[in-house]
Amino acid sequence: MAAEFRVGVGHDVHRLEAGRPLVIGGLTIEHDRGPAAHSDGDVLLHALTDALLGAVALGDIGEWFPDTDPRWKDADSTVFVHEALTAVRERGWRVVNIDATVFAQRPKLSPHKAALRERLAGLLQLDTDRVSVKAKTGERVGPIGREEAIAADAIVLLERT
Ligand code: MG
Repeated sequence: MAAEFRVGVGHDVHRLEAGRPLVIGGLTIEHDRGPAAHSDGDVLLHALTDALLGAVALGDIGEWFPDTDPRWKDADSTVFVHEALTAVRERGWRVVNIDATVFAQRPKLSPHKAALRERLAGLLQLDTDRVSVKAKTGERVGPIGREEAIAADAIVLLERT
């Protein structure tokens, strides 16, 4: 039987506020501000969750984990990834690879890229060489560049098991 593949894409953005912890890819990164959010505001894991759900056409993170639900108040977003991954597997798919980009003017994320790859690989139970995390600034323009927001994009490829 011919191999069957699915692709999914995710994007997320959060406003940054002084005094909030900056959680990216399940890692807390030392910084003077962090995402304003109902959950922990992890843009990378939210984009990844949407990419996983999107690949199997199961809706989006807002339907699965509504920000009106007190269960998700300050939630650890690794839970969202776990649930999306479980849904993907239950429907007979496995992750081939993921590619993601985090957009932040500050802090500089390049020193954290290796740790972020390891973390995502662990969450998805993938070899690190199947996980890519890139980092970009906002070139000092727009909400990212003015340090008002942080964002992430993720794309995932699935293969039929
Ligand atoms: Mg979000």
